[in-house]
Amino acid sequence: MTTADNFGGEGDTISAIATAVGEAGIGIVRLSGALAVAIADKIFVAASGLRLAETPSHRALYGHIKDLTGSIIDECLVISMRAPHSYTREDVVEIQSHGGRVVMGRILALTYELGARPAQRGEFTKRAFLNGRLDLSAAEAVMDLISAKTEAARQVAVKQLTGGLRRKIEPLRDELLAMLAHLEATIDFPEDDIEAATLEAVAEKINKSLAVIQELITGASTGRILREGLKTAIIGKPNVGKSSLLNALLAEERAIVTDIPGTTRDTIEEYAEVEGVPLLLIDTAGIREAEDGAEKLGIERARRWATAADLVLAVFDHSKPLTAEDEAIFALLKGKTAFILLNKSDLAPAFDLSPLQSRFSSYKFCSISAKREQGLTELKAAIAGLTYTAGETDREVLVTKEEQLNLLREAASHLRGALTTIEGGLSADFVTIDLKSAWEKLGEITGDTATEDIIDEIFARFCIGK
Ligand code: GDP
Repeated sequence: MTTADNFGGEGDTISAIATAVGEAGIGIVRLSGALAVAIADKIFVAASGLRLAETPSHRALYGHIKDLTGSIIDECLVISMRAPHSYTREDVVEIQSHGGRVVMGRILALTYELGARPAQRGEFTKRAFLNGRLDLSAAEAVMDLISAKTEAARQVAVKQLTGGLRRKIEPLRDELLAMLAHLEATIDFPEDDIEAATLEAVAEKINKSLAVIQELITGASTGRILREGLKTAIIGKPNVGKSSLLNALLAEERAIVTDIPGTTRDTIEEYAEVEGVPLLLIDTAGIREAEDGAEKLGIERARRWATAADLVLAVFDHSKPLTAEDEAIFALLKGKTAFILLNKSDLAPAFDLSPLQSRFSSYKFCSISAKREQGLTELKAAIAGLTYTAGETDREVLVTKEEQLNLLREAASHLRGALTTIEGGLSADFVTIDLKSAWEKLGEITGDTATEDIIDEIFARFCIGK
């Protein structure tokens, strides 16, 4: 799959705006491909009179971008990065102009007129992958890094970007390949009758590989949470202090408000970072909305949120007796990971906790005052504890995506299949089939055995210009 010598990429030169569109100090139009330098030289006039083609790689030239009639479009810096020392390993030119929408649109249009074509989503990174600069897991990490919502998510992405996952997967694949070679040699010369000893050794190696895969799988749930956020629902009847809690959680670590373009949603996604764990607060807008008194609706909404959540924070007002509405909230907690939060701890308690604690003994109780911000430290520690089990913060979290996790599970299942075959005393032939499948599944993570469709699908999730 990897074609390190294919510097032409898909043969043509692509161009896109690489920076976010809008009014900004600078913006970058990026070109990649065999014509990149020639196209830039047709529209860029350096103050020094130098042409890009005659300038060494990685040197910035100052000058102006002119249209084909010679009139100045903008002042800019232009840098060329020659193959293979560039992001895509092709010739890359970056035109740094002022960041206005019109300016950049004009420059982009000129590059198209001169023979570049619009880059598809993720096409720069795809070329980097196809030209062997990144493996697939690292290429995917580029998008994770760009969209990281918290410091922890960024750290995981960088680890992947610098080949962390590949370094785990490659030795596994090499080991599998060695086993395959060994087994096939045995099969070819059955009269040697070394099969039993060989199979025993193979089984031992398979168990070792399984342990490594299992570790990656275990870290993956943390990885997913760090990447996507722990989906958290704050539920409770009106006036128990849900919005106050939300504000308290958001206030401490400055929350990042995102509103994801391209998705039709009437809610705001907000992340609160709790000891490095991003909480994705479900339907923040709905929590903040004034309750309308139509209680059925309130419970319906609470039910929806609770269903969608990884973690439910159920809020009760400890300063007032519990009501039937509170009971309805308790009923929603069944089967969920939930914390029972007794709010308004700054006021005199109106009910005794012990009967509740024995009724809901499997849930964690926290006494808090959202208004006075008391008890929140304990709450946060408990939330962090859900994500990182003791000592796990040091664990290498490398797998963040559902697809990668599935591939690991499939690889593990093939390896277990191979073990069963060995234990069942079946022929080595059957063992090799499973080993080969496991080897292929692991290769899909790094992109070595990924099909073109899978690769296209992955890069289609990127944004233009990346
Ligand atoms: P929501 O309807 O569940 O979102 O509740 P709010 O957060 O809007 O709070 C309802 C009322 O309870 C407001 O007047 C808050 O100031 C008050 N409140 C919230 N948390 C506390 C608390 O910890 N202690 C006290 N004394 N009042 C609180």
